[in-house]
Amino acid sequence: MGDASAATPPVENLVVIGSGPAGYTAALYAARANLSPLLITGFQSGGIPGGQLMTTTHVENYPGFPDGILGPELMDRMKAQALRWGTRLLECDVERVELGQRPLRLFTSEGATIETQAVILATGASANRLNLPQEGRFWSRGISACAICDGATPQFRQEELAVVGGGDSACEEAVYLTKYGSRVHLIVRGDRLRASAAMADRVLANPSITVHWNREVVDVHAADETGVSDPDQAGEDEAPWLAALTLRDRSSGASERLAVRGLFYAIGHTPNTALVRGQLELDGRGYLVTRPGRPETGIEGVFAAGDVADAEWRQGITAAASGCQAALAAERWLAHHDLAIPVERQPVDPEPVRQPVRTAVSDAANFDPEALWQKGSYALRRLYHECPRPLLVVYTSPSCGPCHVLKPQLKRVLEELGGRAQGVEIDIEADPEIAQQAGVSGTPTVHLFLNRELRQQWRGVKQRREFMAAIEGLLTVPA
Ligand SMILES: Cc1cc2nc3c(=O)[nH]c(=O)nc-3n(C[C@H](O)[C@H](O)[C@H](O)COP(=O)(O)OP(=O)(O)OC[C@H]3O[C@@H](n4cnc5c(N)ncnc54)[C@H](O)[C@@H]3O)c2cc1C
Repeated sequence: MGDASAATPPVENLVVIGSGPAGYTAALYAARANLSPLLITGFQSGGIPGGQLMTTTHVENYPGFPDGILGPELMDRMKAQALRWGTRLLECDVERVELGQRPLRLFTSEGATIETQAVILATGASANRLNLPQEGRFWSRGISACAICDGATPQFRQEELAVVGGGDSACEEAVYLTKYGSRVHLIVRGDRLRASAAMADRVLANPSITVHWNREVVDVHAADETGVSDPDQAGEDEAPWLAALTLRDRSSGASERLAVRGLFYAIGHTPNTALVRGQLELDGRGYLVTRPGRPETGIEGVFAAGDVADAEWRQGITAAASGCQAALAAERWLAHHDLAIPVERQPVDPEPVRQPVRTAVSDAANFDPEALWQKGSYALRRLYHECPRPLLVVYTSPSCGPCHVLKPQLKRVLEELGGRAQGVEIDIEADPEIAQQAGVSGTPTVHLFLNRELRQQWRGVKQRREFMAAIEGLLTVPA
């Protein structure tokens, strides 16, 4: 967390909501202006900590990185820079805001009420769904909104996969999935790709990608609905895995089946403005309306930055730039109304950021039966058989942003438990057989074992307290 030595004002000077490029940049500027901003990262309701770039691989167009940079690494760096200058973080969602009174009031998913003089809304946007009739049945059982997170899942290996969409994200995901699938079908509503020319050319030149023009997905099906038995279906009680799509030809109206084991959505985003609906002006598509070319909203002291107020550019760099503008505007507004209580940083020049230590894959030579956190199949085999304590097994894949968010949370839980539980990480790309045996259908997946028995499992990013409660539950029950 940020500078713990900085005193917390009874009413915050400035709260930034959202931890994408807009939020972290706003916090960086506000922290350097001695406003000691509180940044509420978001956790589940409108994306994940770090925002949309956590769900992508290479970012090639963010200035300053001539060879490109991985999205999660870029966001780690932005976070580290904001923290280094004294930003304080709260890892939760804002569930409700009251902007009609002073100070402004925010209510968090952790039950806290926060009063603040100024707010920067940087809540970004969330991936759209198609809302197909049977979508819920196959969500995480073949359907995913994040190819980068879930593409390496064993069920998708050497299978036919589909991506829906015609923009840059869809093209990037289609190319990415050719690493895993036997063929990738790109389902495009129109008769051309909306992606940049460079991206479209890569897709059209790729022999592993088939583009289906003028098609829309109408529904999704299990194998039994296609009259075929499913060889991967483990037991009768288990929910079915996706086996086919129904596509409709938008020109002729004709329907056709396409056999695929994975369907990845890349059909755009909706701005995360539900929080302020009815309190601030939104445009017809739900984007926040600000003063033209400026970050001020219709309420004094409330500013907007990034994709949440930008229907047009929606890039990392434009979001970061607008975060800077919002922080400078907030600083001026606070100074003009004499509302800010400056918080001096101690030390004035912060320490350099320390590089994170990577965990080596365990083998017979370096395995430590008491270590809190280890990595790889050797450690899993040993701990599964020998560990007398609760054992958390987290299945990750290398470019999965949500995994990147979750791992430090799990490590903190284990640290707080002081050795009463242990953890092991399995990279499903390095150990696909283990992931297959464990029935992992996407990353991150967490399994909690005690004495070789699976006690609980989770999929996706969850709050620390959920893991803590589950482990403490095992520790208090006699084995
Ligand atoms: C797959 C993909 C690839 C992309 N590739 C590129 C690229 O190569 N280059 C590029 O420049 N741009 C790229 N973009 C676009 C870029 O990611 C966005 O423009 C940028 O992330 C927007 O930043 P933001 O800070 O406005 O919002 P976001 O990144 O969307 O972050 C929003 C933040 O708000 C939080 N939040 C939401 N609701 C709440 C709430 N109620 N309470 C608290 N917090 C909340 C979320 O958890 C999240 O942390 C890509 C986008 C996607 C989806």
